[in-house]
Amino acid sequence: MVTGPEGRDGVSSAAPVLILGGTAEARALAAALVATGRPVISSLAGRVADPALPAGEVRVGGFSTASRDGVEGLAAYLADRHVGAVVDATHPFAATISANAVAATARAGAPLLRLQRPGWRDHPDAASWTWVDSVDEAVSAGNRSRRPFLTTGRQSLDRFIPWADRDVTVRVVDPPEFTLPERWRLIRSRGPYGYAGELTLMRDAGSDLLVTKDSGGTHTAAKLDAARDLGVRVVVIERPMTPPGAPQVATVDEVLAWLG
Ligand code: NAP
Repeated sequence: MVTGPEGRDGVSSAAPVLILGGTAEARALAAALVATGRPVISSLAGRVADPALPAGEVRVGGFSTASRDGVEGLAAYLADRHVGAVVDATHPFAATISANAVAATARAGAPLLRLQRPGWRDHPDAASWTWVDSVDEAVSAGNRSRRPFLTTGRQSLDRFIPWADRDVTVRVVDPPEFTLPERWRLIRSRGPYGYAGELTLMRDAGSDLLVTKDSGGTHTAAKLDAARDLGVRVVVIERPMTPPGAPQVATVDEVLAWLG
């Protein structure tokens, strides 16, 4: 149980809550706050061309400018908009914005809470997977695969170029920024994904390896069950360290309790 912001009886319900978003949890939180009539601003990085939009006010793009870095820019935004509290509900792998949130809220004197979905360490099959620390380690660990299925996102896709001679299946939301090797097959889609679809996809592709980040949660977890049932090896990239400096919760209800 995380108690409310130190030294306060919750957060003033008139001051907007800034949600750093880009995740399903962030959208669920925005919807819950809008439903209670609380002012809320969701911030998206602007990476995805056609993002799923949260309820309430939305702003898009990084906080840095030509004259301010991301920390200064976010701190200035918090002051300009008289933000009452910040909830960092960004993806577990979005490490830069999470670190910026810790520094900027300390500077602006705004309370910060981290909302992060649990990872897959406690998944019943976790001990049978190969856990690695980075994308490059995933390339090494999976190097014997001939038909890998990559679900690690667009941003790190170029690191898998050593696998240009394999029949790689790539699943991303937005198209990659480079031309994929001829043998690679691109699937563009957005979760959530169900078990039957994941099973069909990997069986039809003849996948012998699944590479994933430890994104956690349920929206994209069906691939792990399908991989087990098909005997497909799984390589999981560990989450980056959560920057210290903010209490952490796993559910929208806990955020609402913290806000008071
Ligand atoms: P990142 O590496 O932590 O952040 C890079 C820069 O993008 C930040 O310095 C910041 O720019 C800007 N930024 C990131 N999130 C922002 C937000 N919510 N609002 C405003 N600016 C933001 O982040 P990333 O890994 O590229 O992820 C970008 C966004 O996609 C995040 O919001 C995250 O929740 C979402 N997402 C990421 C992943 C993933 O696997 N990384 C997966 C699904 C969704 P300034 O320094 O200019 O402020």
